[in-house]
Amino acid sequence: MSEVLENILSLQKEINQHNYNYYVLDNPTISDQDFDFKLKELEKLEEIYRINNPSIDKDFFSHSPTKRVGGEINKSFKQFEHRYQMLSLSNTYSKEEIIDFVSRAKESLGNEDDLEWICELKYDGVAVSLNYKDGKLFRALTRGNGVIGDDITDNIKTIRSIPLILFGEGYPDEFEIRGEVIFPHLAFNDFNENKILNGEEPFANPRNAASGSVKLLDPKETAKRKLDCYLYFLLSEDKKLNSLTHYEKLKLAKSWGFNIPPYIAICKGIEDIMEFIEYWDVERHNLGFDTDGIVIKLNDTSLWERLGSTAKSPRWASAYKFKAERACSKLLSIEYNVGRTGVVTPIANFEPVWIGGTSVKRASLHNSDFIEKLDIRLGDEVYIEKGGEIIPKIVGINFIARKTNSQKFQYIKTCPQCNTPLIKEEGEAGYYCPNYNHCPPQILGRFQHFISKKAMNIDTLGGERMGYLLDHKLVFDFADLYSLSENQLIGIGNIDQEKKGSIQEKGAFNLIKAIEDSKNIPFERVLYALGIRYVGEVVAKKLAKHYKNINNLINANFFELTEVDEIGDKIAESIISYFSNPENIALIEKLKSKGLKFEIEDVSISNKLQGLSFVVSGSFENYSRDGIKKVIEDNSGKIISGVSAKVNYLVAGDKMGPEKKKKAEKLGVKIISEEDFNELIK
Ligand SMILES: [Zn+2]
Repeated sequence: MSEVLENILSLQKEINQHNYNYYVLDNPTISDQDFDFKLKELEKLEEIYRINNPSIDKDFFSHSPTKRVGGEINKSFKQFEHRYQMLSLSNTYSKEEIIDFVSRAKESLGNEDDLEWICELKYDGVAVSLNYKDGKLFRALTRGNGVIGDDITDNIKTIRSIPLILFGEGYPDEFEIRGEVIFPHLAFNDFNENKILNGEEPFANPRNAASGSVKLLDPKETAKRKLDCYLYFLLSEDKKLNSLTHYEKLKLAKSWGFNIPPYIAICKGIEDIMEFIEYWDVERHNLGFDTDGIVIKLNDTSLWERLGSTAKSPRWASAYKFKAERACSKLLSIEYNVGRTGVVTPIANFEPVWIGGTSVKRASLHNSDFIEKLDIRLGDEVYIEKGGEIIPKIVGINFIARKTNSQKFQYIKTCPQCNTPLIKEEGEAGYYCPNYNHCPPQILGRFQHFISKKAMNIDTLGGERMGYLLDHKLVFDFADLYSLSENQLIGIGNIDQEKKGSIQEKGAFNLIKAIEDSKNIPFERVLYALGIRYVGEVVAKKLAKHYKNINNLINANFFELTEVDEIGDKIAESIISYFSNPENIALIEKLKSKGLKFEIEDVSISNKLQGLSFVVSGSFENYSRDGIKKVIEDNSGKIISGVSAKVNYLVAGDKMGPEKKKKAEKLGVKIISEEDFNELIK
């Protein structure tokens, strides 16, 4: 084995272990930064290996952790038959039926006394079945109709807690493991916030979002969503494995690297089962994901066959479902929250009511259209629901109880914070305050965004203390943060409450250090930190990569912007409008003078393609389309999307567009093959 390949394999193994430590054991042993560094290193080595060994199969590194970011776009999902039918469990909302189920099983088995039951949570996500061959993930299928499912392997690979290669030993050559793909609340809320920011309709709940996510044609999109997967059921032909109890199997699967949930108990009888149900009916609200019930299975798998199945579901397992919790309360008032982008969110205040183990008195009303659609009025009796989700929501109105003199609700016309008339754009569901530069919550919101972890990472300051700095008029724009001194900060606290929560000496020292450190934050994150509307993390990254520095971006016109991958009209308009404001240009100049990074660092490996521009067309034997583009850029070449006289080379793959070829020939652009290209970078 070549030395490079040896390095690759050992690095793959190391990264797999770190993945497992982080996502399954929740116990990382290296920093995120070191992890990213190792992953980049691996990517580079694999690309080099590919270039030097053009004959290797395109799936050669298909189980590498580098595949977690998503591969090629799928055209559709292939379908395959399940090796073992995916039955659904019988389920009930009634505890009596659970008692019946347990006693029926006991009777059929000759009234055995010491039956053990395994109670687990029922995860509210999308069921998947994973097939492993020779210790590697072979295929992942959706439930489909229980007999045939869709092949979603490429998307499943992006879920970090699912092992691509197994750890340990003792696993059969082939087996299946089943579980549920879930959208954890934190990731779901992040994702929905971004959707709202991009002017898109948010997902209704994590389950819908998870189910949409595993069925995306572009695995890179799935990768961005930070899904998780809990596994709970092992199936195989292996005799030794099949002699184990359900619980023992799960323990073993955990040692192979699977994310087996810890919410599991061995129950000796109906009392234990009821205790488990009652405990989780309350405690589930403190979990970071949605559950909708409890699954009860016989532990002794040898008894499963004796009990058998009905046409639809097995007789050795059942599910108890939690009732969706709903309450009714009187709507007292509607207040408004103004976010950093000026979007106004109406919030309902109602009489406190008890749902899901907590007292609730506020719920989001989303936007003006939502109020309009439900015709919500002050004084109405509203229905409030709290599923597994963190935030309660209003789902309806008791129209029968409505008073005859009730008035249609009048939505505000001006900003509740700065009195500027609100604007509602065509196709948007809500209003926003256009007073970008002087609306206080927008200013504070932008500062909070600027200092946040994913932006300038000055989050030791915190949102509240950021507000104090503004109240004390220590800062007016982002650049002022970089002129602060320790002495200015000491003693600064809540202006109305006699310096409550004020900054101490140590805190001031740490803050100045964090502010200083933030000067090393790379350009793409500085760009994100500016808080340009619709420019989220991903868009900022694309822009930074494409334009290399802020001046190129400022000078880009609308059409050039929309040429950039994933930049649509709305984003382009927002960018143009941001840079056409002289106050923003002045701010950028000021930030530049403080030493913030407004250009990307040179990451190229070589200058072999310096000054040359390329159009890439068709598909390639040893590169993905993105892969070959990356190699060009890493060697300082430039990628152009359309053929023009300025282009030096058209790299022609299989099934290249005939128009492109014609045009290149006409303009005298040199057409080269994949082999010729490899020669260029040799
Ligand atoms: Zn305002």
